[in-house]
Amino acid sequence: MIFTRLVTCRFYGQLNRFLAPQRKHKTFVYAVKGTPAIKDTVEALGVPHVEVDCILVNGQSVGFDYQIKGDERIRVYPQASHLRLKRIVRLKAKPPARPRFILDAHLGKLTRHLRLLGFDVLYRKDIADQQIVAATRRTGRVVLTRDIGILKNKAVRYGYFVRAIDPKKQLKEIIQRFNLSGRIKPFRVCLRCNGRIHRVAKDKVMHRLPPLTKEFYTRFYMCRSCRKVYWQGAHYEYLAGIIRSYIKIV
Ligand SMILES: [Zn+2]
Repeated sequence: MIFTRLVTCRFYGQLNRFLAPQRKHKTFVYAVKGTPAIKDTVEALGVPHVEVDCILVNGQSVGFDYQIKGDERIRVYPQASHLRLKRIVRLKAKPPARPRFILDAHLGKLTRHLRLLGFDVLYRKDIADQQIVAATRRTGRVVLTRDIGILKNKAVRYGYFVRAIDPKKQLKEIIQRFNLSGRIKPFRVCLRCNGRIHRVAKDKVMHRLPPLTKEFYTRFYMCRSCRKVYWQGAHYEYLAGIIRSYIKIV
């Protein structure tokens, strides 16, 4: 026979965005069946584990595998840094100092903007959730998504739920969240395939250029992977505009 047990829960800060409206910013009683791991209970309430840094059970810091017994007071925090406790189990994996990313299929524009600033971003518009999970497990890439389901998968160690909807605001959010402002190197990564771009002599690509481009431009780049040719034309100005607008808003 499986018993129902009651616990008292409270979520703090940014974690409230994932809760049902009646549970946001307040203490509530929640019923669990059996003795689930606390990770499963937190995720059943809507909060992906990658967003959680610390869980206190009756004032003690516990790991995700803590099994609920009933009658506990559970407090869940997005950051543990301000908590004054002798012993804290930090649950959020620290992202790599030079993160590489894998983006969900609906984040095509954010992909383009991140590549534009020189960041390594794996992206395919037909990628399935399981492929994203397999790729992050294999490569340690940080998953960026607006799909909470992916972030609840236990194989996702580094993941982040993108809050903003507008791609430029998303870019600002990611730069701040992952502390990337000192790592911006525009025009290093191919916008089409994520390959590395390098300078190339004009005569090497002459046969692939439109007539007016041949006439007016002198500086050319080519992707090592897909061999797409870039030059500082109208397209460049458009991209440079995005970078300038980004640098202004940081
Ligand atoms: Zn390319």
